[in-house]
Amino acid sequence: SRQFTRPLNDLSNQFNTLLSAVAGADRVFDIIDTEEEAVDENGAEPLQNILGKVEFKDVSFSYEKGGDTVSQLNFQAKPGQTIALVGPTGAGKSTIVNLISRFYEPDQGEILIDGHDSKKITRESLRKQMGFVLQDSFLFQGSIRENIRYGRLDATDEEVENAARAANAHSFIQRLPEGYDTELSQDDAGISQGQKQLLSIARAILADPAILILDEATSSIDTITELKIQEALQYLLKGRTSFIIAHRLNTIKNADQIIVIESGQIIEKGSHESLLEQKGFYHDLYTSQLEKKMLMNS
Ligand code: ADP
Repeated sequence: SRQFTRPLNDLSNQFNTLLSAVAGADRVFDIIDTEEEAVDENGAEPLQNILGKVEFKDVSFSYEKGGDTVSQLNFQAKPGQTIALVGPTGAGKSTIVNLISRFYEPDQGEILIDGHDSKKITRESLRKQMGFVLQDSFLFQGSIRENIRYGRLDATDEEVENAARAANAHSFIQRLPEGYDTELSQDDAGISQGQKQLLSIARAILADPAILILDEATSSIDTITELKIQEALQYLLKGRTSFIIAHRLNTIKNADQIIVIESGQIIEKGSHESLLEQKGFYHDLYTSQLEKKMLMNS
């Protein structure tokens, strides 16, 4: 786990800090919102029923004064597409998803959501239509049912269970002595890392967001659970725009677009096939280390 060591990934740090501190998780987003320095721009309006088109136009951003953390980013995600962000540690992948999620605003350039300048959209309306599946599945103290229901607080028990089924989580939950009422307060409650991920996928399925941010787990997970996760992800990704900080070869190969980032810049983008044809960075990565690295990770 990479909690708290340094501000490596603001997104998961914020969730982890908050979820360990907060009992009633329905308040998490409120707190995240109040913790932010930035307020919505004057005249910002809610944008409902987002289709999920996301466009970066010459986006540059830096956490501190000095050189850009990411610079001159240009890409376009069509509604429903899966975008894999690939590149070495520190390249800027988390920064890109932090910008999409509006935890930070670009210093230069624009991020357009369905063609609207995202600065002109209220954060709250945007976040309501975004889902997050992060590395350290951010489960909180409460029952499994409550943890899944956090995806949509007015969901019925039946809807919670349907989401769990779609996420391949229902069968293991049912095998637990307390089933959906199992409390996740004790450190593990007999639930594996992979099963925790299935729960957070179930939560995201229930939330049904237009835009999904997925930080794919790097931890090793047994093969059977891994297959269940892959299958659940296929279901989750369908029909929404998804940005994946991708570590697994299969995820990357299946993406509609792969965006290769190095030192804060997009050095290549395209499908797996087109990037292999280019015989550039991705090709080299893929043929030399990527495969080995991915195999080691999975
Ligand atoms: P990746 O996700 O590809 O590993 P990041 O986007 O996390 O890369 O990081 C890009 C660069 O920004 C790194 O040099 C990292 O140290 C720096 N960085 C990340 N978060 C912060 C932050 N909150 N404050 C200052 N620097 C940061």
